[in-house]
Amino acid sequence: MRIFCIRAHHLLCLLGFRGLGYGRKFVRKMAQMRRTLKTKPEALIEVLDSCDEICLSCPYETRGFCRKGKYSAGRVKEMDRRVLSTLGLKTGDVLSAGRLLRLVRKKVGSFQKLVKICGMCGWREVCMYYTDLREKWRRKISLESS
Ligand code: SF4
Ligand code: SF4
Repeated sequence: MRIFCIRAHHLLCLLGFRGLGYGRKFVRKMAQMRRTLKTKPEALIEVLDSCDEICLSCPYETRGFCRKGKYSAGRVKEMDRRVLSTLGLKTGDVLSAGRLLRLVRKKVGSFQKLVKICGMCGWREVCMYYTDLREKWRRKISLESS
């Protein structure tokens, strides 16, 4: 059975994906991986803290590293490690898509946690995962203060 490779922080980006990205090839790959993650709970996913299948479709990937900016390789690896540690996983772990999604919802289900993981990601205003959790958090704050 094919095992899909996804770097850990991309699990969250896939949940927030709404058709935007670094070019047509990249967007196609994101859409395909999102479909797999959301509609094939039995699909096997290997979680990584390094470049994955999505990076291979990205114009910024060079010889196995993210070269989007001078410090990108280290920054995205840090993000992956924050996700892995939040999920209680390590790089190379293989889980079914269904189990992985349940784990993400349970462990990264709050805006505060997401902010710590994503930092100043430039995509956050168009990322549905980020904006939805922020909206829930804002509603909660406004209910508590009314
Ligand atoms: S805010 Fe950025 S890093 Fe975080 S899930 Fe969304 S796209 Fe990914
Ligand atoms: S190469 Fe960098 S910018 Fe491109 S998808 Fe991978 S982590 Fe993101």
